[in-house]
Amino acid sequence: VLIAPHDSYVGSIDQGTTSTRFLIFNREGEPVASHQIEFKQYYPHPGWHEHDPLEIITSIEQCIEGAVKTFETQGHSARSIKGVGITNQRETTVVWDSQTGEPLYNAIVWTDTRHQNLVRKLKARLGADKLQDLCGLPLSTYPSVGKLLWMIENVPKVAEAYEQGRLAFGTVDAWVVYRLNGGAKANIFVTDPSNASRSMFMNIHTLKYDEQLLDFFRFDMDKLKLPKIVRSSDPKAYGTLTTGILKGVPIAGCLGDQSAALVGQKGFTPGRAKNTYGTGCFLLYHVGDKPVISTHGLLTTVAYDFDGKPQYALEGSIAVAGSSVKFLQNNFGFIGSSSEISVLAETVEDNGGVTFVTAFSGLFAPYWYDDARGTIFGITAYTQKGHVARATLEATCFQTKAILDAMAKDSGRPLAELAVDGGMTNSDLCMQTQADLIGIPVERPRMLETTALGAAIAAGFAIGVWQSFDELKNVNTAGVKTFEPKINKEEREKRFGRWEKAVEMCRGWANE
Ligand code: ADP
Repeated sequence: VLIAPHDSYVGSIDQGTTSTRFLIFNREGEPVASHQIEFKQYYPHPGWHEHDPLEIITSIEQCIEGAVKTFETQGHSARSIKGVGITNQRETTVVWDSQTGEPLYNAIVWTDTRHQNLVRKLKARLGADKLQDLCGLPLSTYPSVGKLLWMIENVPKVAEAYEQGRLAFGTVDAWVVYRLNGGAKANIFVTDPSNASRSMFMNIHTLKYDEQLLDFFRFDMDKLKLPKIVRSSDPKAYGTLTTGILKGVPIAGCLGDQSAALVGQKGFTPGRAKNTYGTGCFLLYHVGDKPVISTHGLLTTVAYDFDGKPQYALEGSIAVAGSSVKFLQNNFGFIGSSSEISVLAETVEDNGGVTFVTAFSGLFAPYWYDDARGTIFGITAYTQKGHVARATLEATCFQTKAILDAMAKDSGRPLAELAVDGGMTNSDLCMQTQADLIGIPVERPRMLETTALGAAIAAGFAIGVWQSFDELKNVNTAGVKTFEPKINKEEREKRFGRWEKAVEMCRGWANE
């Protein structure tokens, strides 16, 4: 068993959808230094959403430099950072040339819907109804596979690399690990099961690539290179940083962002759940060491695999959460920054009859309506910006309620309280609304960087900074704020009924 020296720290790369961060955690799980960079979002056509894979890498390198400099000015030595964990936006798909290590196209981001027709054709293919039992995910535009197929069909450079057996596919973790290790030369080409479970290539029961799945999508496995699936916590498999201020430090942990948040919220036992309100919003419910396949519109995903005994979660995914707040800022100009949404919403007493179904990329869990589009209902001459602001915050809260109802049906065990984190939970109004709509307390920790903490925990276990879950029990427990429900069941059902009606009415617009 590895035991790290007392003065040990763990770094965490948090490569999110809108920004990259690097945080340095001490043994108490407290962040002592951090740096964050927002990077460019590309929306070349309606429904398209891309990132520049090289800009992702540069942003990571700059965040590491920035945070470590701060750390050093506090009197610490960079040498006390014993390992680094990675957590990342999931499903986002990167392709590169396995011989040169250079990207062949922009990364297609998880929210992208350009391949909607392709997915519709796949759904009609024989065997489509068996996929969820094998990989935990139903067919939709959300997993990586459709994004990859679209690139092979539509980008000549990608098609050529595939034909010549040089096409490397990776989710963001695999790309980042590969490049931070120096790319083609070192050729460290790995992924962890929580990320691999978002591709539709991995068998959720065996954690191995599945021939039936690869055959269904008609991949020629002599032509496509997939990363090796290794444990989420491993001192060697992920290699080391090869440049910069932390050169030589091992990458020792890797988790998809939502799995990382579950770990950061210490969701180590079955029955624990967390809901993260970032760009999108994702509820993960720990179900134990056997996957539960949903019959109510939820996904099955790997929570983490630290020791060869993988743990599973049921997931409810909401495509649009904090991004709807950004939308009011950037597209409508209602606010100057995200934090002003609560102030605007509080200029009115209630939503004034307005319901906003923020289905910008179709509607995810538990509905999975890819033909839905964002729709605002109930506008009258009385409607003010504040009503729309309230309806925007409520949209995520209503979807969370729908997901919790589905989760209670799938697991047979309703939640007693909901642990939350992510940028949007900064809004007290949003969290109070959430508690009102689900009828159970909502608990917000003081330190909201639980995603980064989760990746640090994965790395810290591998390098001996922590040895057991028990050592983490006091991490981030002080200063939890609890929001208690303040409306009755009748009122809750009335509001939810209006939402459900709006959801049915926002369908069928995608192909008009
Ligand atoms: P990600 O990791 O997906 O990039 P974060 O957890 O950093 O997301 O959250 C960012 C999101 O949170 C943004 O979309 C932003 O609009 C939203 N947000 C940040 N602060 C607030 C706030 N005070 N009220 C409401 N939303 C907020």
